[in-house]
Amino acid sequence: MAGALAYRRVVLKLSGEALAGEKGFGLDFTVIDRLTEDIRDVHKLGVSLGLVVGGGNMVRGSVASQQGMDRVSADYMGMLATVINALALQDILERKGVDTRVMTAIRMEELAEPYIRRRALRHLEKNRVVLFAGGTGNPYFSTDTAAVLRALEIEASVIIKATGVDGIYTRDPKKYPEAEFLPELSFQDAIVRGIAVMDGNALGLCKDNGLPIVVMNVNQRGAVARLLQGERVGTIVR
Ligand code: UDP
Repeated sequence: MAGALAYRRVVLKLSGEALAGEKGFGLDFTVIDRLTEDIRDVHKLGVSLGLVVGGGNMVRGSVASQQGMDRVSADYMGMLATVINALALQDILERKGVDTRVMTAIRMEELAEPYIRRRALRHLEKNRVVLFAGGTGNPYFSTDTAAVLRALEIEASVIIKATGVDGIYTRDPKKYPEAEFLPELSFQDAIVRGIAVMDGNALGLCKDNGLPIVVMNVNQRGAVARLLQGERVGTIVR
């Protein structure tokens, strides 16, 4: 049951790479198993939870277009990759007893519901985890932007960006061991200092609408649950 939660409704953004593990490509089911255990535990706290998953573990439109593909077609491939990822997450979450719905920004009703805001809200009220797939449904966007858009639509109070690092540092901590960890940052600072919290569109949307972002390490077991229970985890941008 819900104790005192720091956030009542959240959107968790998982990159496609988070599902690929060490391989960096495709799906690593050992990694997904661990991730979904964390998601199940977070859900058990009683938080209303939306998930947005990327597709970078399969196709990135910008990269495929540099290799000769038409950009728009490549972006649609990327959006389809997010649906594949969402179905994998759904399957494993449901095996762990979590009630879920996948909603797609591009209609494919044989396998998932189309995204309709009011239906998404209804699912959340019924305590289902909603997986928002297909990005925004438009080429030239990213799943970061999709995550912010959905978070605003469902009136989430925070967007949690799950990454492979503990949060935001003054420099890349993998290259510069002296890099300093920043527990908190303003939107303005992130933009002026060119810190890649999210892509520019997504960060701008958060800033304009006052939606805080927490950047945190997805590989730390239980970290999302601790954050939701009020512990200081990762970097908050607000
Ligand atoms: N994409 C798109 N529109 C969207 C969301 C995603 O065209 O609204 C495409 C784009 O080609 C992108 C790919 O899907 O490169 C995968 O998404 P993203 O790169 O955001 O995934 P992540 O980096 O989070 O794994």
